[in-house]
Formats: sequence, C-alpha cells, structure tokens
Amino acid sequence: MLCDDVKRAVYFFLDGSLAAPKQHDFTEHLSLCPDCDRRTSVHRRLRIFVLARLKPESAPDRLKQRLARTFRAMGAEWS
Ligand SMILES: [Zn+2]
Repeated sequence: MLCDDVKRAVYFFLDGSLAAPKQHDFTEHLSLCPDCDRRTSVHRRLRIFVLARLKPESAPDRLKQRLARTFRAMGAEWS
C-alpha cells in the first residue's frame, strides 16, 4: 500500500469498513510510515470529536426507541 492509498482509505479504515487484507496492509503501512501514522491519528481524533458533537442529534432516535419500548410494554400489559 502506498501513502496515496492510505490517504484515500483512511475514512474506511476508521469506519472499520475495509476488507480484512486491506485493513492489514493499512496497519502495516502505518507501522512503517510515521507520516501516515500521524495523519491517521489526526483523522481519528477529528472523527471522535465530530461523532461526539453529533451525539445530541441522535437523542430523538433514542427517545423514539424508548417510547416504542414503552408502548410495546403497555401493549403487552393490555393484551
Ligand atoms: Zn505513508
């Protein structure tokens, strides 16, 4: 794997959506290439930051799930 491949694949790598052999090539490249290693940890931190910022917006989904569970429980009680 070349540095350009690593740059292209970094988001897939962080998503865990790379195929196993690619994932292996990727981590191997990181262990040999400090530049890509550094770039990848910057992306990882950015991603964690962005995901953390997005969390409040997923609250309605969690609320919906909780409501759905509550309704199911109520339905079960009444049947
Ligand atoms: Zn590299």
